[in-house]
Amino acid sequence: MASLHSHIDRVLWTQDQISSRVAELASEISADFEASNSPVLVGVATGAFLFLADLARNIDLPISVDFVRAQSYGSGTLSSGVPKLSLDLKVDVNGRHVILVEDIVDTGSTLSSLIPCLESKGASSVSVCSFLDKPARRKVHFQLVGKGKFYRGFECLDYFVVGYGMDFAELYRNLPYVGVLKPECYK
Ligand code: 5GP
Ligand code: MG
Ligand code: MG
Repeated sequence: MASLHSHIDRVLWTQDQISSRVAELASEISADFEASNSPVLVGVATGAFLFLADLARNIDLPISVDFVRAQSYGSGTLSSGVPKLSLDLKVDVNGRHVILVEDIVDTGSTLSSLIPCLESKGASSVSVCSFLDKPARRKVHFQLVGKGKFYRGFECLDYFVVGYGMDFAELYRNLPYVGVLKPECYK
């Protein structure tokens, strides 16, 4: 009995499209940094967990990995606008290049709060690598640090999407593709 995939109305990016795009992003990152000054990938939990795992495995550099936590949605589909952050990093980012790894940049408020925190911990540059970007929804424009770059997987229209790490009410993160739920599933 199908009990997960039957909740999906439409697939926006398939597993194959995702894996080839993630490999391209990883090659770009591998080319942009030196092994002698390799980056720290800081994943924004929980949404970035699958993207970070796939990206990290494709990067040909001795990177470090850590996580911060940001929560802005509660259990709905509308951002509260004020993300709750926990930045208890184990890796010392002082003097390191940081790449913040996100599932999706929407209003921009999460990154606008996170980037200055990493800068204040002494990061020599802060880049962002986001699997999806919804530019039409941007309210706050985040500022990268130093020679930081914005890497993005795909541009997303104004849908509330789930899968590949992204949830609705803490469900559907385990879908291996990205899609839109059937309207009755958003209740
Ligand atoms: P912000 O509005 O601060 O840029 O986005 C914060 C976070 O909201 C994203 O990192 C992501 O976790 C969540 N978010 C934004 N848009 C969507 C969406 O379409 N689907 C899901 N599941 N989460 C989203
Ligand atoms: Mg996120
Ligand atoms: Mg969420």
